[in-house]
Amino acid sequence: MKIAIDGPAGAGKSSIAKMLAKELNFVYVDTGAMFRAIALFFLNQNIDPGNEQAVKERIDEIQIRLGYEDGEQKIFLNGEDVSGVIRREEVGKNASTVAKNQAVRTKLLDLQREIANDGDVIMDGRDIGTVVLPDAEVKIYLTASVEVRAKRRYKELEGKGEHCVLSDIEKDIEARDEQDMNRKISPLKKADDAVLVDTSDMTISEVVKKIREIAKK
Ligand code: C5P
Repeated sequence: MKIAIDGPAGAGKSSIAKMLAKELNFVYVDTGAMFRAIALFFLNQNIDPGNEQAVKERIDEIQIRLGYEDGEQKIFLNGEDVSGVIRREEVGKNASTVAKNQAVRTKLLDLQREIANDGDVIMDGRDIGTVVLPDAEVKIYLTASVEVRAKRRYKELEGKGEHCVLSDIEKDIEARDEQDMNRKISPLKKADDAVLVDTSDMTISEVVKKIREIAKK
């Protein structure tokens, strides 16, 4: 069985998908981490992730692999565990830029489908229900107001000791929404057969319960 969870940054996709995967004994696949790892590769090489030609020329040098440790997803970029460093805000922004690139999306699409073929998965991202797994049995589109999403992100970053300003995060989230929803290839949008869940006024456990009920049906 495949569960696809899509939605904008900060809607709670990864926390919810992780909890559900544990409960249902599914493999959790965070596809955003893959785009982040690719962005990190180019940042480390001092190549602008928005430089379409340069990205296309070097993409074959990148090997992305997922692993699991105590149920937690780990991501390896050319053999190196980059699970922590890809969480930085700067990497997230650049991931959204590199995600517009056709060569990047083609490479990751193959990898994502290969992983999904291995068994029961919950995959989260932006185009899982629309492009990666159009046949997923359960499709959820998670969203929340920009204000709520910015506050969640702020708390998360502060919790990790990364100092930030709430209004800047709100602006970044709006810019990322705009970029992800309006790109030419695989833009973020709700699949016609996805269930819309607005998490603005819901706790994580309420959302998990709701999705579990949808999956049961
Ligand atoms: O979910 P996360 O914030 O980690 O994703 C980082 C960026 O990767 C997103 O802003 C989006 O541009 C891109 N992405 C994508 N397709 C996916 C997952 C993430 O384009 N399936």
